[in-house]
Amino acid sequence: MSKQSFREAKPCHASKATIESFAADFASKVGYRSGAALEAVVAQLGGKIIYQTLADLSRSPEASIRVFGNGKFEIYLPDYTNAERDRFSIAHEIGHYILHYPLANQPMTAARFGSTRVEWEANWFAAGFLMPEAAFRKEFARHPKNIAGVARHFRVSTAAATARAKALGLL
Ligand SMILES: [Zn+2]
Repeated sequence: MSKQSFREAKPCHASKATIESFAADFASKVGYRSGAALEAVVAQLGGKIIYQTLADLSRSPEASIRVFGNGKFEIYLPDYTNAERDRFSIAHEIGHYILHYPLANQPMTAARFGSTRVEWEANWFAAGFLMPEAAFRKEFARHPKNIAGVARHFRVSTAAATARAKALGLL
């Protein structure tokens, strides 16, 4: 596996709005429902989630996803973070797979850290996938002034729900 060479993911340059609505459509296409587990989605796409200890991560800090030549992929997650954080990370990595792998069309990796266009695109995908705009607006209206309740519905962190509400002009 480590002998394979992996091309670094490159941005697709679609707009934030395009990526978010694409992600929402993709979520419904794969039968994802708000707050549901993501493991089934990953498995359905041909992926595997590998939880790593801090020591493992310090040995291989370069990748949070590796897509192999046959389209199968592995997502690497720390085993010491909380479930809501992990869910956003998993959706982010699915974003790399869906948005960036078709462009690479060869074994691909995406770095764990960095605030580059390619990372922003994966974050937009994650937000649109986990908190589709229409569903988010509906839920926000149902829990006025209770962002924690909205976050629980989508099983994301309060920080992620707050960022989504601000991005949609609700806060
Ligand atoms: Zn990334």
